[in-house]
Amino acid sequence: TQRVFSGVQPTGNLHLGNYLGAIVNFVKLQEQYSCLYCVVDLHAVTVAPSVWGGPDELRRCTREVTAAFIASGIDPKKQIIFNQSQVAGHAELAWVFNCVARLGWLNRMTQFKEKAGKDRENASVGLYDYPVLMAADILLYRATHVPVGEDQKQHLELARDIAQKFNNDFAESIAKQGHVGPYFPQPEPVITGPATRVMSLRDGTKKMSKSDPSDYSRINLTDDADSIAQKIRKAKTDPEPLPSEEKGLEPRPEADNLVGIYAALSGRAKADILSEFGGAQFSGFKANLVDLAVEKLSPIANEMKKLSADHAYVDAVLADGSDRARAIADETMTSVKDIMGFVRKR
Ligand code: ATP
Ligand code: MG
Repeated sequence: TQRVFSGVQPTGNLHLGNYLGAIVNFVKLQEQYSCLYCVVDLHAVTVAPSVWGGPDELRRCTREVTAAFIASGIDPKKQIIFNQSQVAGHAELAWVFNCVARLGWLNRMTQFKEKAGKDRENASVGLYDYPVLMAADILLYRATHVPVGEDQKQHLELARDIAQKFNNDFAESIAKQGHVGPYFPQPEPVITGPATRVMSLRDGTKKMSKSDPSDYSRINLTDDADSIAQKIRKAKTDPEPLPSEEKGLEPRPEADNLVGIYAALSGRAKADILSEFGGAQFSGFKANLVDLAVEKLSPIANEMKKLSADHAYVDAVLADGSDRARAIADETMTSVKDIMGFVRKR
C-alpha cells in the first residue's frame, strides 16, 4: 500500500515557504493517497525553550498549524491530522532507530550544523537526533511518499538509509516473523510543485524560515493585507529592471525568488511571468505581487483565524486523528518488537 506522511513544526510563524513548499502538496496528494499530516511537537522542543516559546506558545502554535492544514483544504475526516506527542510510537521507534543509525551518518547532517550554530556544545541532544526522530515519524506508518521542501532532502536520505539497515540487520528475523520482503519501505521524497525552496525576502541566498529573527524575511500565513504589502515593498531587490527571459534571473537570487513566488501563487510558469513583466521596474511588479499574494492568502488567513480560536474543534480533530494514527503505529511497533526480540505480553 502507498501512504503519505509529512510533518510541520508548531514553532513560530507558518510562512509562504511552508505553504508553497509543503502544504500545497499535502492538499494535492490527498486526492490519490491515504495521508497522515502531523504537527510535530516533539521536534519543536529540540531548540531552547526561549526559542520555541514555552508551553502556552506550543499549545497556540499546535492549534495554529492544525488550523492551517484544515484552512488550506486538507479534509480531517478523510485524512489523518494529528500531533506527534499523542502517539507514543514516534519516540519509541526513534529509540530503536538510534541504535540502527550511525554517528557518522548524523555528523553529516547540514541542518544540525546550521541550527546549532557556533555554540555546538550547547545544542540539545534532541536537535542532533532530530533526523532519527523524523525517520521514525515516517516509518512508523511505513509511509512510501513524503512531501517536503528541498531543505529536507538530506533527512529523507537518512530515513532511507535507516530503513535499509534495519531491513538488512534483521533480515532473517523479518522473514521468520512472516513478513515477505523488506519490512520497511524506502520512503520517497516528493519535492515538487510550485516552489520547493522559497527564499528569505531579505537575503535571496537563505531559505525563508520560521526561525529567522526578522519578520520582514517572510510572509506569514496570518499576515494581513497591510503587512504583506509592506514586506513585499521592502523586499530586497537589485536596481535592474526585470529580465525578459529566465536565464536573466540566474545571477539575481532576490529577483528570481520574487518571480518564483509570483509564478507559484498564480500557477503560471516563470517564463510566462517574465514575458509579461520583462523590462518593467520592480516597484510596478511588486505592486502586482502584493495584489496577488493578498488575493491568494487572505482567505486562508481568515479561515485559520476562525478555526484556531475554536479550541474545542481543533483539539477534537487532533484527538480523533491521533486515535487513528495510533492504530497504525501500534501494529508497526508490535512487529518491530517481535522482529527485534523484545518479549511482550500476548
Ligand atoms: P525552521 O526554520 O524552524 O526549521 P521551517 O520554516 O523550516 O522552520 P518546518 O516546520 O521545519 O518549518 O518545515 C515544514 C515544511 O516546510 C517542511 O516540509 C519543509 O521542507 C518546508 N519548508 C520550510 N521552509 C521552506 C522554504 N523556505 N521553501 C519551501 N519549503 C519549505
Ligand atoms: Mg525546518
